[in-house]
Amino acid sequence: MSRAPLTDGHGRRIDDLRVSVTDRCNFRCQYCMPAEGLEWLERAELLSFEEITRLVGLLAQMGVRAVRLTGGEPLVRRNFPDLCAMLARIDGIDDLSLTTNGYLLDRDAAALVAAGVKRFNVSIDSLQRDRFFEMTRRDALPRVLDGLHTLAAQPGVGRIKVNAVALRGFTEQELLPFARFAREHPFEVRFIEFMPLDADEGWTPESVLSGEEIRTRIGEHFPLVEEDREPSATARTYRFADGAPGRLGFIDPVSHPFCSDCNRIRLTADGKLRTCLFSLGETDLTAPLRAGASDDELEVILREAIWRKELKHHVGEPGFQQPARTMSAIGG
Ligand code: SF4
Repeated sequence: MSRAPLTDGHGRRIDDLRVSVTDRCNFRCQYCMPAEGLEWLERAELLSFEEITRLVGLLAQMGVRAVRLTGGEPLVRRNFPDLCAMLARIDGIDDLSLTTNGYLLDRDAAALVAAGVKRFNVSIDSLQRDRFFEMTRRDALPRVLDGLHTLAAQPGVGRIKVNAVALRGFTEQELLPFARFAREHPFEVRFIEFMPLDADEGWTPESVLSGEEIRTRIGEHFPLVEEDREPSATARTYRFADGAPGRLGFIDPVSHPFCSDCNRIRLTADGKLRTCLFSLGETDLTAPLRAGASDDELEVILREAIWRKELKHHVGEPGFQQPARTMSAIGG
């Protein structure tokens, strides 16, 4: 069954859904959560695989075609590849992707690709073991790199991107190692500007190492050529001017916001719809879902919420308010 496509009150077509399947994580990244972790959602608060699949199915009828699975760390959710297979079978979902910290990839890579996950983003903030440990509070770089290569070896695996959060005072020493990594491996390395979604609320504009600055620093060693930006893409991509394989991507939400053609909405692990990464409000879907609401009733709730989607974020503007929900419970 198909329903009218989703648009927001600014005329933007909404066809990309991010689904956080858990708020739990096996890492403790400094820019995300404290060493002791956070108060986790109770199991009963989590949407079940069947509930997630029903909501994604309904949104697919309204034109959603891309689903990115995130967390916390999605691979810590038990039997996660089963959910991937359930979502991959939904008519209309032609782009199922995953963001992971890679720690459990060597265990799950084959099952994820077999389940129908097309694209992978692996979060790695340093290629140096001690600095990786410093940032994530886990001595896990060798295992993550093993998982990355295990994934790359899977027949039929799609594009693999390595995402690094760019922090002033930390990432500068990572730029050339990552540029060389992108030149030597079939992965696109992307730098993401640090955003004010950390549990410690320690973000300041000064802590952002901007994409522009990174491009300049890397370009002094490896000149870059910008590629055309795909509509609604979050990243600007560059290839190496000397023809070396590999690409670099830059997600600059702070210095170069890309909200004007935003096509994204988010579903949290406890069933809240967020219409923007920086939403200060959410729409609860769990209560109507568990109270027996029909698809038509849920459609009304979804459309009303999405119609009110924020035009843009206000990061760095006077009066900006950081959302109460942290990145680990939104899922990026
Ligand atoms: S900040 Fe909000 S509106 Fe802007 S691109 Fe991200 S989700 Fe879209």
